[in-house]
Amino acid sequence: MSKLPFVTKEQVEEIVKTYPTPFHIYDERGIRQNAQAVQEAFAWNKGFKEYFAVKACPNPFLIQILHEYGVGCDCSSLTELMLSDALGLVGDDIMFSSNETPAEEYAYCAKLGGIINLDDITHIEFVENILGKLPETMSCRYNPGGVFQMSNGIMDNPGDSKYGFTTEQLFEGYKILREKGVKHFGLHAFLASNTVTNEYYPQLAKQLFELAVQIKEKVGVQIEFINLSGGVGITYDPDQTANDIRVIGEGVHKVYDEVLVPAGMGETAIYTEMGRFMTGPYGALVTQAIHEKHTYKEYIGVDACAVNLMRPAMYGAYHHITVLGKEDMPCDHTYDVVGSLCENNDKFAIDRKLPGIDKGDYLVIHDTGAHGYAMGYNYNGKLKSAELLLKEDGSVQLIRRAETPQDYFATLDGFKVYEALKERIKTIEI
Ligand SMILES: *Cc1c(COP(=O)(O)O)cnc(C)c1O
Repeated sequence: MSKLPFVTKEQVEEIVKTYPTPFHIYDERGIRQNAQAVQEAFAWNKGFKEYFAVKACPNPFLIQILHEYGVGCDCSSLTELMLSDALGLVGDDIMFSSNETPAEEYAYCAKLGGIINLDDITHIEFVENILGKLPETMSCRYNPGGVFQMSNGIMDNPGDSKYGFTTEQLFEGYKILREKGVKHFGLHAFLASNTVTNEYYPQLAKQLFELAVQIKEKVGVQIEFINLSGGVGITYDPDQTANDIRVIGEGVHKVYDEVLVPAGMGETAIYTEMGRFMTGPYGALVTQAIHEKHTYKEYIGVDACAVNLMRPAMYGAYHHITVLGKEDMPCDHTYDVVGSLCENNDKFAIDRKLPGIDKGDYLVIHDTGAHGYAMGYNYNGKLKSAELLLKEDGSVQLIRRAETPQDYFATLDGFKVYEALKERIKTIEI
């Protein structure tokens, strides 16, 4: 099956006159339509709120767009909290689902009035020591251990993951929180990543709903919100069948009516912390073929590298590639599409069937809107690219400039060598 990019060759040829490749570009229309669909899918739940996992795409322009649909920020670090704060998203608009959290981050979150979602029972005391008194609202992250299984097999392995309270700790934890004066309680779990099935949320929800009922019965603590977290996947591979958020929302609704409503918990709010599903498909990395190499294999060298998109190098992740202007040509060539890092895993595609590529062709690497730019780094002294927004009216807005050598060397500011570096920067033209 094919997967068409949201930008055309003609658009890219126009864009590169102002913003050279490589760059990440985001599709405003797609982000808006999807955010709207998410809200509609959970409209049956009065307290529903999506907290966008900021780590997936920490761009303030995109967060602002999502916020128009009532979306808050799921943060897990100091700078993510700062970003949320700077956008005016504070209080209940912040979910702080961090782990191994430094004291100053808890303090900052509390100052902003964000909801602290504890990753471990020992953090109850840790937070109490920092704040003097626990906030009135607190959430706990659950890890059931074992494996997370669905009808089509094992989805993930919570027993091996570093996150969350054990079942026993959870019961104990809520007791302690109540004794320490906490008044509003939440429950959270993230048990499988990038699930491409409409069953994940409903099955997770069932497990958490039953647990919340048990907590009420055994501990006498009423859980007021249940946070299904992230993990709703996207179809990186065009042969997969995409998730349908309406079906997912209805699936959660069904188990809500089966489990929570009869237990007198029909007021419980559903929260989500989706990242990938909110922006993943609506971002693309645009890069130009600058070399071709014929050795033991056929290589296409592009001007982007793993610094711009780490997922293929890091997880062997598949990202679909379209050669712009050659959408309808047969994929009768086999290439490794590679970046310039001195690392042999810097390959966007291995043995990929593509149309014949010429130097100068623009390639769209799909589905980079989440965990794409955000995972970038500076290995080999490579600089991070710009981020662009393709607006609904077809215009293009720069929403983050590309890094410059100044940025790369900025942390040497104050050292003797910095003066010499500044001189070198002046002598180069990029
Ligand atoms: C990464 C993360 C998310 C988002 O995950 P996606 O797979 O992008 O949906 C949500 N919550 C927490 C705590 C996370 O660490």
